[in-house]
Amino acid sequence: MSHQTKKSLGQHFLSDPAMIEKIVRAIDPRPGDRLVEIGPGAGAITRPLLQRHRALTVIEFDRDLIEPLTALGAELGAELSIVHADVLTVDFTALAATSPIRLVGNLPYNISSPILFHALEHLAVIRDMHFMLQKEVVDRMAAAPGSKVYGRLSVMLQARCRVTPLFKVPPGCFRPPPKVDSAVVRLEPRDPSEVGLVQPRRFEQVVRAAFSQRRKTLRNALSTVCTPEQIEAVGMDPGARAEVVAVSEYVALANALGA
Ligand code: SAM
Repeated sequence: MSHQTKKSLGQHFLSDPAMIEKIVRAIDPRPGDRLVEIGPGAGAITRPLLQRHRALTVIEFDRDLIEPLTALGAELGAELSIVHADVLTVDFTALAATSPIRLVGNLPYNISSPILFHALEHLAVIRDMHFMLQKEVVDRMAAAPGSKVYGRLSVMLQARCRVTPLFKVPPGCFRPPPKVDSAVVRLEPRDPSEVGLVQPRRFEQVVRAAFSQRRKTLRNALSTVCTPEQIEAVGMDPGARAEVVAVSEYVALANALGA
């Protein structure tokens, strides 16, 4: 498929066959899986997935890619359903009407965080996710308390999913090569009863406020959300900074504060 890549759409197409194979192996499609690929582009992952799996839904925003993707489905005689849309407007829950979905994709890096948060909104119908993102973002997603890159993204994702970084992907695996290293990550929704989060909106508010001023203590950063006494009541130190607080502690605080 020849196509002038568009920088504004984050188009860096995978071109390394060994890396493509490694990604498809990590996804490991099984009979009956309902696979949904975000940003199929020129079909680097789509083609081997279809060759193995025969059925796939793809979501692509670039109209110039719709016809070549249609041709790819026809060439392989496979069941390729193409959704021509901005992924941020796609209702994953509706897509999963018949069974839970497995989301995959080499994401457009400029909107990778909004895509992750959009997926969280539909987590109940998602079985797992395999995404390629900037390595720096994967590091933040998987970071532990105390790490310099532990932040809102780490807490929001880890409260809802197990986050497993799988492997690094160097710029040379893409055309055109991006300026940064990339990495593939696996996200598996956690059982809500294991997390015990009963106030998701409050949780979001607490985490946002805590990390809005990283250098401040919780007492100060959370001053518009709760009192130091309320922080202490769940066994947390109001003098601590957001970056040392565990995900379970944010959950406990949000639950204690209530709706
Ligand atoms: N999967 C292909 C590959 O690995 O070679 C392409 C990956 S490229 C990094 C990202 C893809 O996402 C591009 O095809 C781009 O057109 C598409 N894209 C960008 N913004 C999008 C959006 N808002 N909704 C859906 N697709 C989008």
